Amino acid sequence: MRAAVSRGVGQIVIEELPDPRPRAGEVRVRLVSSGICHTDVSVLAGHLPSPRPIVLGHEGAGIVDEVGPGVDHFAVGDHVICSIITSCHSCFQCQRGEYVLCERAVGFSGTMLDGTTRLESAGEDVHTLFCQGSFAEYAVVPASAAVRIRPDAPLEKLAGLGCAWSTGLGAAIVRAEVRPGSSVVVIGAGGVGLATMMGARAMGATSVIAVDLAEHKLARAEELGLATHTLSVSGEDAVAAIRELTGGRGADYGFDAVGARGTLETALQGIRPGGLAVAIGVMDAAVTATSDLFAFLMQKQLTGTYAGSIIPQRDIPAFVDLYMDGRLPLDSIIDATYALDDVPKALDQLAANEITKGVVLL
Ligand SMILES: [Zn+2]
Ligand SMILES: [Zn+2]
Repeated sequence: MRAAVSRGVGQIVIEELPDPRPRAGEVRVRLVSSGICHTDVSVLAGHLPSPRPIVLGHEGAGIVDEVGPGVDHFAVGDHVICSIITSCHSCFQCQRGEYVLCERAVGFSGTMLDGTTRLESAGEDVHTLFCQGSFAEYAVVPASAAVRIRPDAPLEKLAGLGCAWSTGLGAAIVRAEVRPGSSVVVIGAGGVGLATMMGARAMGATSVIAVDLAEHKLARAEELGLATHTLSVSGEDAVAAIRELTGGRGADYGFDAVGARGTLETALQGIRPGGLAVAIGVMDAAVTATSDLFAFLMQKQLTGTYAGSIIPQRDIPAFVDLYMDGRLPLDSIIDATYALDDVPKALDQLAANEITKGVVLL
């Protein structure tokens, strides 16, 4: 099969690799599309450590074409979204239903759940990002990370549900449970931020304030009908503007979809007493945030979410149903499509902020 392989920091080329085969508890997916996520850019650039060689891509959508031993709930022909949530379903956290916190998660190891790889090149192990490596014609994934969706849903449009969109939707719908009629501020109008706004709107938020320094991203949030107000300022200026838009009080909810220095502070300072701030993203593991304690005496709440805190098998099919019903127009977020050969260019364009959400059609 053909796959986009990175053999060093900043380096990625399309190569021919032997087709992978599923082992026990796994399925092989013939990929139809793959979303392109900022994490792919960060791994390529070496900002997130990962072994090489590695096939990048972790938002796969496709059709099951081989079922490994011991997998009885998938059949050849099933349509699936490949989630980044690769939970074991047996550890302490999984037994409590906290699948996104699975203690056996593979992280950036580039291996499958058993610590081995499914791809090789001239006798050398080739890793896959988040048990997927979806910039390829095939991906072998743990059956626990494959989520069956209805067959009439367009696989070429919904790959983003594997990571970025589920993270944004889940932050608003699952983690924060945004209440109807509420006001929401979202820091960051990229792929995750737009999905957060869409989730908040679907829950009935009537005021959505998008904050970003890139004017074209704010314009898009407005065009898509997601943001009711946009602010191209940061820090104290952003907090003052948010208060002005919310009766001097602050928003009910504040989401930080950026995770840069100062952005979580803006979300926390931008919410009202008793409001909820949610950390969704982090740009760099070294970023820290501080707050005065008075904010918490005023009963502000601060939490975070990993991957939208979703239960993939429960929530992704629900998001797909809402999409099919026209209530989550996720494909409107896509602003570029690519062939597999164009993956290096696509990653460059995402790194340069030229696109919001790209999709590779396989
Ligand atoms: Zn687990
Ligand atoms: Zn991602």
